[in-house]
Amino acid sequence: MKLLWVVLLAFAGYAWAADLTTIAERSQWKKTGRYDEVIRLCHDFEKAYPKKVKCQKFGETPEGRPMLALIASEDGKLTPLANHRADRPIVFAQGGIHAGEIDGKDAGFWLLRNWLTGKTSNDLLKAVTWVFVPVFNIDGHERFGKWNRPNQVGPEEMGWRTTGQNLNLNRDYVKADAPEMVAMLTFLNRWDPMVHVDLHVTDGAKFQPDVAVMVQPLQSGPETLRAFGKAFSQEIMERIRAKGGMPLPYYPSFIRDDEPSSGIGQLPALPRLSHGYWGNRNRFGVLVETHSWKDYATRVQRTYDALTSILTIAAKQGPEWLKAMKTLDRQAGELAGQKIDLAFENTKTSQTIDFPGYQYTRETSKVSGAPQTKYDDTKKETWQIPHFAEIQPKISVTLPKAGYYVPAAIATATRTKLDTHGIEYQVVPKALKAAEVESFRATEATVAEVAFEGRVGLTVKGQWAAEKHDIPAGSLFVPIAQPRAVLIAYLLEPNSPDSLLSWGQYHAFFEQKESMEAYVAEAVAEEMLKDPEVRKAFDHELENAEFAKSPAKRLDFFYRRHPSYDDRFNLYPVYRK
Ligand SMILES: [Zn+2]
Repeated sequence: MKLLWVVLLAFAGYAWAADLTTIAERSQWKKTGRYDEVIRLCHDFEKAYPKKVKCQKFGETPEGRPMLALIASEDGKLTPLANHRADRPIVFAQGGIHAGEIDGKDAGFWLLRNWLTGKTSNDLLKAVTWVFVPVFNIDGHERFGKWNRPNQVGPEEMGWRTTGQNLNLNRDYVKADAPEMVAMLTFLNRWDPMVHVDLHVTDGAKFQPDVAVMVQPLQSGPETLRAFGKAFSQEIMERIRAKGGMPLPYYPSFIRDDEPSSGIGQLPALPRLSHGYWGNRNRFGVLVETHSWKDYATRVQRTYDALTSILTIAAKQGPEWLKAMKTLDRQAGELAGQKIDLAFENTKTSQTIDFPGYQYTRETSKVSGAPQTKYDDTKKETWQIPHFAEIQPKISVTLPKAGYYVPAAIATATRTKLDTHGIEYQVVPKALKAAEVESFRATEATVAEVAFEGRVGLTVKGQWAAEKHDIPAGSLFVPIAQPRAVLIAYLLEPNSPDSLLSWGQYHAFFEQKESMEAYVAEAVAEEMLKDPEVRKAFDHELENAEFAKSPAKRLDFFYRRHPSYDDRFNLYPVYRK
């Protein structure tokens, strides 16, 4: 009996080790597994290597699936606290944020097993801890089918781009509407990774490069990190090239879709995207995009190469990077009252680059009637195309000297977002009467014509000006002097393209809720016109033909000057101090 147990246990041990391969590997990279494989591997890796790997559940999807992370470290430091205490650099990598682009899941498991079994350098995780989420968009991953990625070569079946709630997680980093995003950011606030890697597959044209790796900060952001970012990007390129890859440091999409000769632009990503988000939190955000027209085996190999390169460089540079990042966190208060840039555009300056493409023709299609590009990927050709990498600010703001007041009326909903981002605030304990603050009155407020990611956007024009407002008890004060100062500006500056206002969170404040009946306004107007100043202003407006022919605009002229007019209409409900 005893012998039987020994045999069974030995067999079980062998089975765990043997089973640490994926369906992808066993099918020679023709297929990818379902999520049950991720659940099994997560537990089996921990069982087989309990001192070096931990499997952790950090949330649950709306369809009830466990969100899982594997934490791997040579020295057994497998909790955030143990790592932070030792000042140990942490690299985070996720696969399947777009679940059809699943290379990251299979590359990550492959790398983890090779490291544990000594098939790759044992030193890989000696000086760095790796936190790996095989699939971020799990419900999307289980919407499994053959045609989910029509512009991609393999695997045979794969998941779907968006979540069960049809949200694109890689537009959700700032507004954080998806429960998966809330779980992920809460989890990562504890880990605070030095480098965040997001593993994708690109769409688009046919060309020779097989992977693009974009690092942020690189073109914008704090100077120290930009310098490190440039060196980081260059070394990733060199290491992938040394493995036989053909990497690009920018996203290979053309300025005019489907037209290679139009060239390629390069801009810092907004924080709604993963690499833009982490880049604006004083950490490195890295976007890895394998090229969709390469077969699955090649793509997984390049993802593997990108991951090993990033982990190797991070281990080497970690102490220096961490020091710089923590200094920036500490000095964030110095940004108060300073101008920062929130969005960029390319200048007209470009450089002609040699881009390894294929021969192609542009002919009018008999199907669509439009010019179409046809590639011949058996014939290599070097395209000389413009690369626009120079940037200039498109939206800039001057940060407040102290911070933002979020009044009590909107505190609950806003607070949820601040908590998700790990942003600190104080609750105002006692009402402040006629506090001297800055407020933003929109002179124009335009609602978007179509919904985007479940939200209907809003764009406002206007500016901050000194005013007095009551701040009720229970309002929030969000100080600028904290590590995520830039992210706070992205959330709360009304003109930020990723602000809660721009994402449509505060629509109600830009809707007119009270009005004056026309016959009342007529009588009020007659009375008000007795004032020569009003008369003069009205006569001046009448010179404008559009105004003169609009009865509504003419009456509104008087309503706006009347004490009954709503002084909170078009007033952004967040103040600055
Ligand atoms: Zn993607």
